Amino acid sequence: MPSTRAATQEPHVRLPLSFEFFPTKTPEGAVKLRAVRQQLYEMKPEFCSVTYGAGGSTHAGTFAAVGEILSEGVDAASHFSCIGATRATVRTQLAELKTMGVKRLVALRGDLPSGYGVGGEFQYASDLVGFIREETGRDFHVEVACYPEVHPQARSPEADLQAFAAKARAGADSAITQYFFNADAYFRFVDDARRLGIDTPIVPGVMPITSSTQLMRFSDACGAEIPRWIRLRLQSYGDDTASIKAFGLDAVAQMCERLCAGGAPALHFYTMNQATATLALLERLGLNA
Ligand SMILES: Cc1cc2nc3c(=O)[nH]c(=O)nc-3n(C[C@H](O)[C@H](O)[C@H](O)COP(=O)(O)OP(=O)(O)OC[C@H]3O[C@@H](n4cnc5c(N)ncnc54)[C@H](O)[C@@H]3O)c2cc1C
Repeated sequence: MPSTRAATQEPHVRLPLSFEFFPTKTPEGAVKLRAVRQQLYEMKPEFCSVTYGAGGSTHAGTFAAVGEILSEGVDAASHFSCIGATRATVRTQLAELKTMGVKRLVALRGDLPSGYGVGGEFQYASDLVGFIREETGRDFHVEVACYPEVHPQARSPEADLQAFAAKARAGADSAITQYFFNADAYFRFVDDARRLGIDTPIVPGVMPITSSTQLMRFSDACGAEIPRWIRLRLQSYGDDTASIKAFGLDAVAQMCERLCAGGAPALHFYTMNQATATLALLERLGLNA
């Protein structure tokens, strides 16, 4: 059933919003993405971020998109992954980002595509965060990733929580979660972090649901759980895209309402380089003012 709660609520203080994009592969894609960004800028995001292919595969595309966002007058965060990198390459790229006027990073380990050797001088994202602080002091606001449903390679939930704590202690300013569809997992993760004395803001990463097959594929790869009731509903709609989108909007909006009511400090949207689904969610949540 569609949620009516946001429509009947008193106006509330607007939560900070951020939008994530990935670098496009073609000039046509870049033109389309510019138009998408302009639509989303209407929502006055705190910042927009651009993903970075592990192993440096999208270095030029990521930095170009970050530069464009800055030139459009919006704060931009460059994702930055360290797997396979050396101190020297990271140092050079940090200098490049500083010269561009970038003030925000999302510091990650990343996943190397199969076929790449591991190599490199950084093992974990916490090593990268520590190195960024050593090299550049407080020049960058550093975000890190965290996983309310546990990173797929973690030895245990406790080990993964400790890995997040290590990133916070190495100097991360805030964290963005992997997407999830179970608000309780987020609240538990935040409570567990607070119990360890980690007070770093933990921003939910929100994935709009627009396609059943795409969602299943991504979730299998990144370890995000699709609850059985959502999976079954999506399967039952088959190719009926309109029903998938309508259901996805209801389900994700209801979860976001719980997150907001439960104290989420901001919302970060995995836009998949599309504006429509994110805008629909923000409108449903009354966050489009
Ligand atoms: C918000 C967000 C943005 C992302 N953006 C990108 C992107 O732009 N490009 C990209 O390639 N990927 C991106 N990813 C995916 C991410 O790179 C993968 O999830 C990757 O596998 C882990 O990266 P991390 O920075 O969380 O790694 P880490 O924090 O280093 O953790 C990796 C694994 O190592 C374990 N670990 C960490 N420290 C230790 C330790 N000291 N001892 C033992 N185990 C340890 C952790 O539990 C975890 O299992 C993003 C993910 C999120 C949530």
